[in-house]
Amino acid sequence: MDNKQIQNFLREIDQSRDDLIDLTQALIKIPTLNPPGEHYRDICEFLNRRLRNSGFETEFIRASGAPGDSDKYPRWNILARHSGGNSGDCVHFNSHTDVVEVGNGWTVDPFGGELIDGRIFGRGSCDMKGGLAASIIAAEAFIKTWPRYTGAIEISGTADEESGGFGGVAYMAEQGYFSPDKVQHVIIPEPLNKDRVCLGHRGVWWAQLETHGRIAHGSMPFLGDCAVRHMGAVVTEMEKSLFPALQLKRTDMPVVPEGAKQSTLNINSIHGGQDQLSVGYTGLPAPVVPDSCKMIIDRRFLMEEDLSDVKAEVRNLLETVKSHRSDFSYSLTDMFEVQPIMTSKEAPVAMAVSQAIEQILGKPADYVVSPGTYDQKHIDRIGRMKNCIAYGPGILDLAHQPDEYVSVDDMIDSAKIMGLALTQLLGVAKTD
Ligand SMILES: [Zn+2]
Repeated sequence: MDNKQIQNFLREIDQSRDDLIDLTQALIKIPTLNPPGEHYRDICEFLNRRLRNSGFETEFIRASGAPGDSDKYPRWNILARHSGGNSGDCVHFNSHTDVVEVGNGWTVDPFGGELIDGRIFGRGSCDMKGGLAASIIAAEAFIKTWPRYTGAIEISGTADEESGGFGGVAYMAEQGYFSPDKVQHVIIPEPLNKDRVCLGHRGVWWAQLETHGRIAHGSMPFLGDCAVRHMGAVVTEMEKSLFPALQLKRTDMPVVPEGAKQSTLNINSIHGGQDQLSVGYTGLPAPVVPDSCKMIIDRRFLMEEDLSDVKAEVRNLLETVKSHRSDFSYSLTDMFEVQPIMTSKEAPVAMAVSQAIEQILGKPADYVVSPGTYDQKHIDRIGRMKNCIAYGPGILDLAHQPDEYVSVDDMIDSAKIMGLALTQLLGVAKTD
């Protein structure tokens, strides 16, 4: 590989600018909202046309039977593969195609893909259709510059990342698409900023905690037992002992932002008593003492913590409340758990991307760990593929926000970086 070819490759990316803008806008205009999971087939068809034109072979994969999959909302995924003609490693770019709800506060059309001052606006622009578009441009320019490369490039567009990834990457990993004999390097172009290599994420434990009471007439609460008051005692104990304890647990993982370098717990919701309003009833409630109160907790834990200790901490807290509160009874139910993961900085894919960042941006890459999880968990746990990172052009803080955007310059830079990483990871045949 000589310098002239590298220059040709970088020029090719620069010349793809208009194409990159069109591609990103077209992706944003397909409103792949999740939930419920709309237009998944449409975006797969679009990617199919694009990538077949560029010489990829494609496969549509429906996650039949996955949570959320139905005839009305089928969970469609697409996998595209291009081979350089000589057997070797496969580099896989995985992007989720779904976007979260729009929410309030937009000043532009969320599905318009408007280009304003070098930024493309729209739901999913940053998270993560801009990253998907950049990876396609990178792969196409790489193939054009080095048609006889060694190995293969895969690009997948997958469903449901925003709702856990079970109809997308998890399903594909279960079917063997991410096994180490098929794929050797994975880059997930999530929006982590163009100068950062994201090595992994903290762990997650979601649980439902319920306090029990006894129903009675609301005019004689002393004849019942109020489950909401019991839950109040739980919150008080959390404020007193649990939150201060979590603040003291710090990690050596390079988690961003700074506030997420400690253990955290979010009280996601509390529901106590009758829930008549949610079913459209507009009258007054009936006077009763609530016999149930439910809290959902979202605990994010660190590499240094053990999940069984994390659970014991909450159970001990509940036992403490029970020891000084008569008639206190509770149940604690696991909902979801993910172990923390962190790819080594020395992993080939991490090294290739960080070197490319330095080449293109002229400064060393930052290594980060994401506060929340993303599809890397399935590639790691189900696929058993450890050589995986997230790297993409969007600005992390803009994800899921109103007026979300992605900068065209950032997409160009990250496409160059992804392409240079390909030259490191795949054998590039000399043309002279
Ligand atoms: Zn995302």
